[in-house]
Amino acid sequence: MSAAAASTNTPSELAVPTNKTAHAFDKSALDALLLRRFFFAPSFEIYGGVAGLYDYGPTGSGLQANVIDAWRKHYIIEEDMLELDTTIMTLADVLKTSGHVDKFTDWMVKDVQTGEIYRADHLVEAVLEGRLKGNTEARGEKAKEVKDEDPKKAKKKKNVKSEAIRLDDEVVTDIEYILAKIDDYNGPQLGELIRKYNIRNPTTNNELTEPVEFNLMFESNIGPTGQIKGYLRPETAQGHFVNFGRLLEFNNGRVPFASAQIGKSFRNEIAPKQGLLRVREFTMAEIEHYVDPLDKRHARFQEVKDVVLTLLPKEVQQEGRTELTQMTVGEAVEKKVVDNETLGYFLARTQLFLEKIGIDPKRMRCRQHMANEMAHYAADCWDFEIQSSYGWVECVGCADRSAYDLSVHAARTKASLRVQQKLDEPKIVDTFECHWNAKDVGMRFKKDAPMVKEFVSGLEKEKLECIKKELAEKGTSSVQCPDGKSYDITSDLVKVEAVTKTEYMREFIPNVIEPSFGIGRILYSLLEHSYWAREQDKARGVLSLPSLVAPIKVLIVTISQDPQLRILIHDISRKMRKIGIASRVDDSSASIGKKYARNDELGTPFGCTVDFASLTKGTMTLRERDSTSQLIGPIDTVIEVVHAIVNGTMDWQAASGKLESYSGVQDVE
Ligand code: AMP
Repeated sequence: MSAAAASTNTPSELAVPTNKTAHAFDKSALDALLLRRFFFAPSFEIYGGVAGLYDYGPTGSGLQANVIDAWRKHYIIEEDMLELDTTIMTLADVLKTSGHVDKFTDWMVKDVQTGEIYRADHLVEAVLEGRLKGNTEARGEKAKEVKDEDPKKAKKKKNVKSEAIRLDDEVVTDIEYILAKIDDYNGPQLGELIRKYNIRNPTTNNELTEPVEFNLMFESNIGPTGQIKGYLRPETAQGHFVNFGRLLEFNNGRVPFASAQIGKSFRNEIAPKQGLLRVREFTMAEIEHYVDPLDKRHARFQEVKDVVLTLLPKEVQQEGRTELTQMTVGEAVEKKVVDNETLGYFLARTQLFLEKIGIDPKRMRCRQHMANEMAHYAADCWDFEIQSSYGWVECVGCADRSAYDLSVHAARTKASLRVQQKLDEPKIVDTFECHWNAKDVGMRFKKDAPMVKEFVSGLEKEKLECIKKELAEKGTSSVQCPDGKSYDITSDLVKVEAVTKTEYMREFIPNVIEPSFGIGRILYSLLEHSYWAREQDKARGVLSLPSLVAPIKVLIVTISQDPQLRILIHDISRKMRKIGIASRVDDSSASIGKKYARNDELGTPFGCTVDFASLTKGTMTLRERDSTSQLIGPIDTVIEVVHAIVNGTMDWQAASGKLESYSGVQDVE
């Protein structure tokens, strides 16, 4: 009896074309699925849970492992990066030097009576958006589709009720302008907005305090007496920088090269309310690419120059607009929209990575940081944002951090974090040298003295000439150092002298271009982009995860509980697992339709079914999740085909050439 004959069912859903948009996206159905199939769940749930902490279950862990594996191959292996695994517990001194102890903060406001806490920028945005919505209702207009809504802040919106109150046109324009550049406001400016628009706690209507800075790092102590202060790292980056000297040596003293690290980071978020998008413990994958500051070209730029990016440049946002521009990365770099080739290269490679793992390319954009958002030392910074039901959320930050990090660590520790390049020919140069009055500099600048000396002495010729001139004319010159502060250098502290030198070597501190990925945000966005429901049954949810990242690649089932068939499916599963295909047997007594439905929810791309023909003829069917179309062939050939598809060397169309098409097993309950 053939597998077809064994089936008591009518022809399968093969005849039904896949329509993934038959039903509107249903977030509550997806949330229920993710919990039911244990992708992730609140940590310590049976104790009531803690906001911003989640545990990944077998499916979520499998998906995360596969996303990370794809990331390692796309970057670390393909680009020959130097991988690191540095400690999470970080010496306070390191984070003081990097600026995190003083500046890794968000602005927080409190209800003056109840003490309820809000993140200031999120609250201002939610309330003002609520007012715009209320105005639209009061005017009886149709609500504008918020295409460019920034979901970073969508969280609070749900708590803020909009009242149908009409606003003056002028006020509407002002609010729209504020919302378009909400990321650009600092604490005092947010305080002004709160006062100007009389923003109160939406739940109590009480007044709010002025915004105060809250440091997001978790503090700790190292050692039994707690004598060494530490923090859980808020990013993996500092672990790269403090090892730069060794990395450079490992790379034979040459730049450019990149280090990469995947690991946990911790941020004590003020009000985490967006599921996996804003959590207090999360996995990051970070690249630090070290380049010559005078040459930020990238050797492989040509390979990606035609990749089309969707851009939201800072000038557009600063004018209160949000329209997007599409441009090849080649053009973006040429027109200086993106500062340099290396930064552009990583934006393009990030887009390719996200597409590869299944993120919808139409729901990605690169948003440039505005002046206030960007660190003072950064040359340029773009967020790779992905749109989900929470709006546009930053999932990857791509920043040119200049020489900041290495300079401050070098100055603090006196470690040489410089690249030395032998010149092809000795060079006679007219330059300037600083001669310091060490004692007085120490007395004036105390612990900052080594940093100031190192920084000023390393300035380029033109800047030193300028300082020399100012010292001669006014006796003082103000210099902004990498810590962001200005220091008044006076003529009693330093003599800047013109010298002629023969240089054999060039020395410089490399600049760092940093793509920083939040794996949880990418994973959640992927789940939303993959979710849809079958046209004929809204309750049948499917996760169309690409086989590259799907936690389980194949479901193996039998149409009967016959003992021989049960032995056979375990045998097939063993064979598959031996060659690295994550497969799962479902030998429960549920109907095949139910088993397929369960696996559609797990995002399993393929299903193999055995029946009595499998015992007599050695055949097995292969079902493709999205189309539900089926093929049939000898068991070993089906395994080979699955292996090839999972490894990306064959697609379903090519598989259809190797196996026969099959329409015997009904795919519904
Ligand atoms: P940042 O260093 O703030 O640019 O963050 C780098 C990346 O880490 C972001 O693009 C996010 O993907 C991720 N990330 C930052 N904060 C969080 C958070 N609280 N929860 C989850 N992911 C985060």
